[in-house]
Amino acid sequence: MCSIIGYYGIDTAAPILVKGLKRMEYRGYDSVGVATKSEDRINLKKGVGKVSEVNNTEQLDKLPGTIGIGHTRWATHGKVTDKNAHPHPSNSGRIAIVHNGIIENFSELKKILEKKNYTFKSETDSEVIANLLQMHYDEKSDVKESLIETLRDLKGHYAFVAMFEDGTLAAARFHEPLIIGVGKESYFLSSDVLGFIEQTDDAIYVDNGDFVLIDSAGLQICNFDGTPVKKQITKVSKEFADAYKGDYAHFTLKEISEQPDTIIKAGENTIEAIEQATDYIKHAKNVYITGSGTSYNAALVAKYLMSKYAKIKLEPIISSELPFSPDSIEPNSILIAISQSGESADVLEAVNIAKKSGAKIISIVNLLTSSLVQESSVVIGMNCGPEIGVAATKSFTSQLGIIYKVTEKICAGCIGVDFEKISALIAKILSSHSKIMEVAKQLKDVSDIYILGRGIHYPIASEAALKLKELTYIHAEGIPGGELKHGPLALMDSNVFVVIINPNDSTYNDTITSAREIKARGAKIIGISDKKSDVYDYWIEIPTIEESMFPIIEIIPIQLLAYYSALEKETDPDYPRNLAKSVTVK
Ligand code: GLU
Repeated sequence: MCSIIGYYGIDTAAPILVKGLKRMEYRGYDSVGVATKSEDRINLKKGVGKVSEVNNTEQLDKLPGTIGIGHTRWATHGKVTDKNAHPHPSNSGRIAIVHNGIIENFSELKKILEKKNYTFKSETDSEVIANLLQMHYDEKSDVKESLIETLRDLKGHYAFVAMFEDGTLAAARFHEPLIIGVGKESYFLSSDVLGFIEQTDDAIYVDNGDFVLIDSAGLQICNFDGTPVKKQITKVSKEFADAYKGDYAHFTLKEISEQPDTIIKAGENTIEAIEQATDYIKHAKNVYITGSGTSYNAALVAKYLMSKYAKIKLEPIISSELPFSPDSIEPNSILIAISQSGESADVLEAVNIAKKSGAKIISIVNLLTSSLVQESSVVIGMNCGPEIGVAATKSFTSQLGIIYKVTEKICAGCIGVDFEKISALIAKILSSHSKIMEVAKQLKDVSDIYILGRGIHYPIASEAALKLKELTYIHAEGIPGGELKHGPLALMDSNVFVVIINPNDSTYNDTITSAREIKARGAKIIGISDKKSDVYDYWIEIPTIEESMFPIIEIIPIQLLAYYSALEKETDPDYPRNLAKSVTVK
């Protein structure tokens, strides 16, 4: 989602803000802007496009002053236009704000402000924050008081930073991330540690419902009612500084390539949590599992695995669907919530509902400082390092790794998963790109791809379709093999490509039959299998492994296929259009 950033220090703010925004580009955005304070006035520039593009035309990084705020916007209210880009000044121009999230009661607030002759220049919900602050500031002449009043007025979820013309920075957090970076003679406010990691690794994680004031007297953190709170400085893991592409052309390729390591590390930073989770699951009345997108596909794998090997029934629920069947969660149950960022609004809402119904939360999450962690009784870390590419790759296999580890614990090692072996096999697949690049060329002008898988391979077919959609913008659909004859066969003709996930296991014979039925209708077949067959027009070979472990390795060639097809189609694999890395709005 979008990013906010603020800087208060002794160096020129604008280049620091622009750099910070660039480091957070992976979160997804459509426009960018910066405002700085110099000589008691606010300077502001913004526009639609990438940080570097807008910086080239608007020279954002040339704005003067040592205090400033910046923003990358992911539009929720109002079109993607220069006017709607943040920062937004208040009517007097004496306050400017950047906001992440949604102000639910913005139209009511706008009406109140309009009655008081405030005018609005954008279509955003955010602009009300600037004018509310001004209205209260004009009455109280005190930044803290006006902030408290403004927070009383706002409904929704937000993190914002406001810059007053005297240079004070005022920020607040309510269900959107906000972190303070503490430098030697400077402070940063940011949605993500990546916004300031190059400058300092000392961070303060602002709690939900707290605000921050930074002025010449220093830093103050308070509850929304104004009571000061004490917060510890945390040393941010240096691993965040690794969030560079290195020699890789794209973050996505780097992250796909890291999987031989990340699969071994999955959950290793929270070993005791795996034990605890096992205990919770064994004794729960019911077990539910939730996630969005890729995380939901991992939840589907968990369902197959747990019921087959651990004899535990587990009900997968798409996070955004849970609010529409809130009674489906019974007390004394467990909800396993999966989210890479731990900030996904849909997952957090599902968790909230489940908690109200008396369920306990086990989370599987990569960012251990995230909101989801605070809501959970047990937290298992994906431990795969920052994932920058918007399309999830290494976090998916880390989620699977954890699901396998928990299942193994419950059934006392009955699967016999050997992660060292899996790691070596992933490395082997990764070393043979050339075949996959060749197949990717064939997909360049294709408009529809279907992916077929049976049993535990169906969730992988579903994840494969998601990767192809995200990275190539080609219509792609995962189909449970047996469903072919119940509809999708009507779509098969010579314009269609079908990927068959077909390891030589108990699903093999049925899936080969489906492949032949498809081939008879003229569609082209890409077989992902450890066994060659004449039915495949293109065979992507995977190594042989025990049946239960195929899901972890069979997704790897598909991630590569999606990546290389994106290159063929000249789309940006790291930042797919219209998508954001962590979807912090509903
Ligand atoms: N709701 C605000 C807007 O549409 C902020 C969106 C964001 O989080 O970037 O401008």
